[in-house]
Order: sequence, then C-alpha cells, then structure tokens
Amino acid sequence: MSPFEAAERLRAGGLVAIPTETVYGLAADATQEAAVRSVFALKGRPADHPLIVHLGSAEWAVHWGLLPAQFHQLATRFWPGPLTMVVPRLARVSRLITGGQDSVALRVPRHPLTLETLRCLGQPVVAPSANRFGHTSPTRADHVLAEFPELPVLDGGPCPVGLESTIVDLTGPEPRLLRPGQISREDLEEVLGPLAGSLAGAPRVPGALDRHYAPRTLTQWFEGKIPVGRWGWLGFAGRGASAEVLMPPSASEYGARLYAALRELDQAGVELILVERPPEGPEWEAVQDRLHRAVSH
Ligand code: AMP
Ligand code: MG
Repeated sequence: MSPFEAAERLRAGGLVAIPTETVYGLAADATQEAAVRSVFALKGRPADHPLIVHLGSAEWAVHWGLLPAQFHQLATRFWPGPLTMVVPRLARVSRLITGGQDSVALRVPRHPLTLETLRCLGQPVVAPSANRFGHTSPTRADHVLAEFPELPVLDGGPCPVGLESTIVDLTGPEPRLLRPGQISREDLEEVLGPLAGSLAGAPRVPGALDRHYAPRTLTQWFEGKIPVGRWGWLGFAGRGASAEVLMPPSASEYGARLYAALRELDQAGVELILVERPPEGPEWEAVQDRLHRAVSH
C-alpha cells in the first residue's frame, strides 16, 4: 500500500494502520464522524478516552485549537515529532474525538509515509495505537496484523521511538506534563521554564489507566529471587530464564525495543515475566512509566 492509496481509503471513510515514529496508529479521517466511531468500535476503546488529532503540518492546527504562545514555541522546536499538545478545542472539533472534553490533543508525527498520506488527504487523522484496548502498542507492521489481520497497513518499518508521544497540557495557567515520552520533561523545560507539579501529583487523564500497556502474562519487578517453573526475563544481562530478552543500556534504544520485547516474552509460554529495574534519571522517565504500568495490576 502506498501513501496515496492510504489517503484514498481514508477519504472513503475507511481505516488504515499508519506508521509513526512512536507506534503504529489506527487512522481515520478526523472530519468524518462515522470513520471516527469505527476506530472506537474496532479497538473496543471506551468513548471517554479522547483521540489525538494528527496534522500534516503545524499550520493545520489553527483549524482545530485555540493556540497559546507556548504552542508556537513547542511546535517550532519539536514538530514534526513525538510531542502532543492539549489545547482548548474550536467548536467544529467533534466531541467524539475529545471524549466529551473542551480540549483537543494535537500532534504532527515525524514519519515520511504518514506525512505524505496526510498531505494527500488534506485533512488530519485521529490515530490511537493500532491495538485492541489495553493491549501493548504495535511498533511493527506484523504486530498490527497480529491484532487486526484484515486491516490495511501502510508498512513504514519498525517505529524508531517505540513509545507513545509525550503529552503536555496547555489549557491551564501553567503547562503540565500528562504523559512522559522520548521528549523529556527537561526538553520541555528548556523551552517553557519549569513545568507545574510532578507527574505523580497530576490528575489522571482518561486513558492513563494503570494496566494500559501490559502483557497478558503476569509481569513483576525482579526483587532478587529466581522463581521456579518457566519464567521470562527482561533485563540488561542474562539470568538463565526460560526466555530472555536482553535490553540495550541507552534509554532511547531501550524504549524503541520495549514493546516488541514484551510481546516476545508474552508469547514465549512462560508463567511469569520478571523485569530488571532500569536506572532512574530524566531520560528514563518514559521507560519507567511504561514498565510501571506493565507490572501493575
Ligand atoms: P494515544 O493513547 O497515543 O492514542 O493517546 C491518547 C491519549 O491522549 C488519551 O488517552 C489521553 O491521555 C490524551 N488525550 C487526548 N486528547 C486529550 C484531551 N483533549 N485532553 C487530555 N488528554 C487528552
Ligand atoms: Mg494505546
């Protein structure tokens, strides 16, 4: 499938899985209510979980949101890229997309095939991760097909970032980090100055469910005890487990491989997956966040 064919299918109200630098998205034309509804239906996503509107360029944002000064600063610095900004929505934005809220989440993704698709279509797409609600996000075309065998996929290779976008809320008096991602709190603070509060204290947004990125196999932190039976290992060095995925020492490479690693261990037929705690530090915040969700129940 080419970007042109993907755009034609979207124009006709159909769904297409699109590659982005973060994860594969389940795309629908954001201006077609019926198409947006079918995204919720296919994913089994609750209606109060808002969708991110993916734009072909930053200029498109003027049709969708009320744009504060910080929006322009961040767009100039980070778009196209893995940063989503939540701004007050304009009246034309369907409340279906915003989960009934008066704000809308906007992003320009950084993948050449998807940018070409958006330019062909001439409209933004909504694009939540192309997996059933609650499952691990797909970072390769074959992951998408494992979830939705019938879905047309625009294959753009493995996603280089591999974790969902950073989300910053610009609707309040002070910017707030809603979801950590590869663009770190420090990166944002370089542009905006200090962000309000810490992630721990922030109110939960819809969609920030604990077990949102979890494998089906019981997954726990490694606390130094080797279990009996068949177990899987996600860590930096081997431990003699029945199935092991060894992870790279850099946070960005770890993030790029994490979801494929969790899928692999989930399919290895083990009773338990143990996860070695990665280092602390600002560059690890997004990986820490996704691992905390994977081990919580
Ligand atoms: P994704 O899981 O990458 O599809 O991103 C969707 C997530 O973006 C939602 O679950 C929310 O956390 C966030 N989001 C989208 N729209 C809004 C909004 N209007 N207000 C607050 N958060 C939003
Ligand atoms: Mg998702």
